[in-house]
Amino acid sequence: MLKQALSEAKGAFIRGNIDDAWLEAELLLRHTLNINRVQLYQRLDRRLTPNEAADFRGLVERRLSGEPTAYITEHREFYGRDFYVNPSVLIPRPETELLVEKALEYTQRYSVATIADIGTGSGAIAISLALALPWVKMYATDISAAALEVAWINCQRYGVDGRIDRLVGDMVDALPESVDLILANLPYVTPRELSRTRLADFEPRLALDGGSNGLERITQLCHQVGGRLSPGGALLLEIGQKQAQAVTSLLSGLYPAARIEVTPDLAGIDRLVSLIWPAAG
Ligand code: GLN
Repeated sequence: MLKQALSEAKGAFIRGNIDDAWLEAELLLRHTLNINRVQLYQRLDRRLTPNEAADFRGLVERRLSGEPTAYITEHREFYGRDFYVNPSVLIPRPETELLVEKALEYTQRYSVATIADIGTGSGAIAISLALALPWVKMYATDISAAALEVAWINCQRYGVDGRIDRLVGDMVDALPESVDLILANLPYVTPRELSRTRLADFEPRLALDGGSNGLERITQLCHQVGGRLSPGGALLLEIGQKQAQAVTSLLSGLYPAARIEVTPDLAGIDRLVSLIWPAAG
C-alpha cells in the first residue's frame, strides 16, 4: 500500500540522514505516480503495482545516493510557484525568497521600471518579480546558456517570455541599459565549504563556487554596479554566512554616498545586503 511504501522510504531516509524524510518520500511517491498531494492522501490504502513499486524504489535509491529530490522530480517550489529545474541550474532555496520580498518592498517605496536579475539560473527570482510587477521591464542574465534554457522554459510556463529579456553574458556585460534595480544571488560558497559538503556533487559548481574567499563574484559585481544603476536605484545581493561585514565595507568604500543595509533571513543569518544609490542632484 502507498502508506507502507511511504513509511519504508521515510525510514530509509532517516537512516540515511536525509532531512525532511517524510516530505521527500511523499514528493518521490507523487512523482512516481504522477499525482498531487490530495490524490496521494485519498489513495493511501491503494496498492502499488510491481512496476510502480520498482520505479519508486529506484527514485528512493537515487535520493539515498545524494541526488537532490528537485533534480529527480525536475520540480522545485519557490515563492509559491512550481519551477522546472535540472542540473544546469542551482536549486532555488527558500532563503532566496527574501530577495524577492525585499525587491517588492523596494518597489512599493520607489518607482521601478527596469530590473536586472544577474545570474538568473532557473529564473525563479526574475519570474516571481515579473509576475508581481506586470509593468516592469526585466532582464535576466547568466553566463551559462544551459541555465538560460531552463529560465526560458519557466518563462514560457508562466507566460512572461515576452517580458523577460534573457541575456547570455558575464555579470552586467550583456545589459543594454542602466536599470532601477539590480538583484543577484551569485555564487558565494568558499572552496572549503564546497569540499566539506556534497553541494557540488550534483549542483553546478559555476553557480556555487565563489572563489578563494567566497566573495570573488560578489566583489566583481559590486565594482560593476556603479555604472549600471539609474540614479536613485538599488542593488540587492544575497550573501552567505559571515559575509555581511566584508560586503558592506567593500560597498561603502566603493560608493561612500550610498545607503547600505543588511537584512537577516528567517534563521537569523545575515542574508541580504542592499545598497541604495543616491538620487541625482
Ligand atoms: N545558498 C546556497 C547554499 O549554500 C548557495 C547559493 C549561492 O552560492 N548563491 O546552499
